[in-house]
Amino acid sequence: MLCPLCNGIGDYLESCKSCGGKVTECGRLSDWTGPYEPYGPIEGSLQNNMPISSAGDVCCHVIYCENCSRVSEILISEWPS
Ligand SMILES: [Zn+2]
Ligand SMILES: [Zn+2]
Repeated sequence: MLCPLCNGIGDYLESCKSCGGKVTECGRLSDWTGPYEPYGPIEGSLQNNMPISSAGDVCCHVIYCENCSRVSEILISEWPS
């Protein structure tokens, strides 16, 4: 399976769920080193319980909204390779 974002063949085009603003895709969650950590913890507390990993063929990415400083996780459906 192939994640379109990791492979640079797709873009994340959704808007911020909170304010509808433009979000920046910050890379894979597992690669995320927390450049925006001062803004607060990621919603969803993936460290504690990881429902994401059982979701199937998805790649978890982090997005950051420049407008409201919200950091969120997103699940990207992987493409068949
Ligand atoms: Zn990915
Ligand atoms: Zn926002």
